[in-house]
Amino acid sequence: METAPETSNGVLATGLGVVRGVLFDIDDTLVDLEFAMTAALRDVSEHLLPELDEAGWDKFGRIFTRETTHIYDRYLAGELSFNEQRLLRGRAALGHFGVELDEDEQAHHWVSSYASRQHGYIRAFDDVTPMLDALDAAGVPYGAVSNNVHDYQRVKLDAAGLERIRILVGTDTVGVPKPDPAIYLEGVRRLGTAAGETLYVGDNRLLDAEGSTAAGLLGVWLNRGGEPAPGFLGREVGSLLELLA
Ligand SMILES: [Mg+2]
Repeated sequence: METAPETSNGVLATGLGVVRGVLFDIDDTLVDLEFAMTAALRDVSEHLLPELDEAGWDKFGRIFTRETTHIYDRYLAGELSFNEQRLLRGRAALGHFGVELDEDEQAHHWVSSYASRQHGYIRAFDDVTPMLDALDAAGVPYGAVSNNVHDYQRVKLDAAGLERIRILVGTDTVGVPKPDPAIYLEGVRRLGTAAGETLYVGDNRLLDAEGSTAAGLLGVWLNRGGEPAPGFLGREVGSLLELLA
């Protein structure tokens, strides 16, 4: 055997002290979901907006991916199904440009076409494989904790070529989403590490860095875009590779 997965006594050398396990967020941390969403959205909407210019498509994508996350929160709260929140976000983006989907058939077609397109665009960020290689080499266990359901995220990780991430905790695993401490702690339990020696890395400052830190983990904000955050006093990296430096 090349590696010994049972060696949870592996230690990762970081500037953050002793790290014996690493948990990752999935969307926009391991997997470039924003790219997949934006590309799929454009594919299934271009015929509805034949006149839209590039600036318009940028705005269209932003509404869908970033400016309607309050609708995703309603899904997390159990008020909407996953497809309902997706359709509402699509309607918000289309509606901004004056396009209404017909209630049943057109809306159903839009959502199902979108889903298959997005799946086809799923890919991992370039820094993920080197990061996981380093963890495997160090004998440090890792996994993912995500604010979506387990089975959907399993398919997504596999589509991104990340079958090697075997530990996956979703919102339906313990019945609560981030930032409830229980979801991060279930990831820790499955790694077999101590919370205070487990990194949690994700792109959402509140749900990933601050939420996991409040649960007792070593939270790290993965700020790929270099977004300014005055007042944020936590740990921050611009790339997963910075964790290995
Ligand atoms: Mg994320």
